[in-house]
Amino acid sequence: MKTKNQTLKQLLDQYQTISALDKINATLGWDQNVNLPAGAGEERASQSALLTELVTEKWQDPKFQQLIKKVEETKLTDTEKAVVRNLKRAGQLYFQVPKEIIIEHSKTTSEAFMAWQTARRNNKFNEFLPHLKKIIKLTQIIADHLGYKKNPYDALLNLYEPDLTTQDCQQIFKNLQPRLTKLLKQIQSSKNYRQFPNNLIDEKNIYSLADQEKLSQYIMKLMDYLPDRGRLDTSTHPFTTTLGQNDVRITTRYNIHDWRESYTSTIHETGHALYELGVNPDYYHTPLEGGVSLGIHESQSRFWENIIGRNPLFLEFLEPIFKTLFNDSLGSVDSQTLALLLNKVNPSYIRVEADEVTYNLHIALRFEIEKDMISGKIQPNDLPEAWKDKMQKYLGITPRNNRIGVLQDVHWSYGSIGYFPTYTLGNLYASQFTAKMATEIDIDHSISNGQLGTILSWLRTNIHQHGGLIYPKQLVQQVTGESLNSEYFLRYLEDKYSKLYQL
Ligand code: MG
Repeated sequence: MKTKNQTLKQLLDQYQTISALDKINATLGWDQNVNLPAGAGEERASQSALLTELVTEKWQDPKFQQLIKKVEETKLTDTEKAVVRNLKRAGQLYFQVPKEIIIEHSKTTSEAFMAWQTARRNNKFNEFLPHLKKIIKLTQIIADHLGYKKNPYDALLNLYEPDLTTQDCQQIFKNLQPRLTKLLKQIQSSKNYRQFPNNLIDEKNIYSLADQEKLSQYIMKLMDYLPDRGRLDTSTHPFTTTLGQNDVRITTRYNIHDWRESYTSTIHETGHALYELGVNPDYYHTPLEGGVSLGIHESQSRFWENIIGRNPLFLEFLEPIFKTLFNDSLGSVDSQTLALLLNKVNPSYIRVEADEVTYNLHIALRFEIEKDMISGKIQPNDLPEAWKDKMQKYLGITPRNNRIGVLQDVHWSYGSIGYFPTYTLGNLYASQFTAKMATEIDIDHSISNGQLGTILSWLRTNIHQHGGLIYPKQLVQQVTGESLNSEYFLRYLEDKYSKLYQL
């Protein structure tokens, strides 16, 4: 990125080093998840910690912070202003929270992560409880240092999604929850719900990993995610990682009895990768690189996974491929059955296994609990009960233990409080973008013919190229002409599932 502003130039130079160190660390992380021999874990952790320390020093360098103050007093273009805004945002924890608190938080969460793993395995919430209490206390302190207008939870939400407030989330879930719960009930009492083709996904069916990988490679190519700038590997939890301007990698996971896992994971992660790869090349190595927020990022992955990948028209296009690859099990399957297989609605205890209809009910529950946890309205001891009550109310099921209840997510043990709502935002943004896209291109035609190029180029023009330039609220306004509106998502679900389940 070129600039005439000498102070900004100095800042950009410094940031370039930070960005390079982060990517080197990401490379170590990728290797750790994909290749690392079991015995090498400890050494790798210390190598990673060293890089994190180097990056922290760069951020905490008083000269760097002085430069940021100085540059704000100079005349800046709009793009340059966005660079400075993003720098301040990326550095807010270092700039606003005392070093001792950051260190204490990092120590607490690494211990909490270990404790959470055993607590979950043993189904003993009490083993995690003292750690969670400490995390909540530290998080409250951090929120106070970060500052907020109305609610301390706002400061936490803003860490993950710029300008997102508790009030925004309250409004969103108030709109979503009753209609989703109602739709779920309608689906559960429908004829198709009872006739679900369970016999295609069970231990008697074998979907060879080699064939599943062929399917993944085929889809990646169709989506224009190519080996010259990306690659596919396997890991326990699928992820996308950016290691360089021309190196954005994804992973997937294979289940020999259920091809849907790798199919949906690969499309999801490719959606993330395409966003990263589509950013204006001028922004690489600057604070405008990468996606603008977790919510917008998730909108891209969910768009491809759900709106395209689970679309009955797309499945009809892929039908011959499925039949060729998985002839033993899917040889005589029809496209309606395929559509039901990929859009099975079923209330489950586990968020990561949830379908499109119930997913956001899992998030509504977490949002309400986190908000009250931070304000002190819910005491940590009462979390398991609060969890069970809300599961019953929203999904009509009560987890029989804490392992599949309050202990299921890793997020709190990491200290990530305020993160969950970005998942729902991703779903909402995706539907609102799609509604706009549909007024400009013939999406159904593209999907039916497997011509995804027109869709990708719409996303590149409207969303990807901007990288971190335009904040989510403004981006949604710019792309769709209105602010975030959950109606698009609700209508998308109601239309799609009314047809599939013949409601
Ligand atoms: Mg994702």
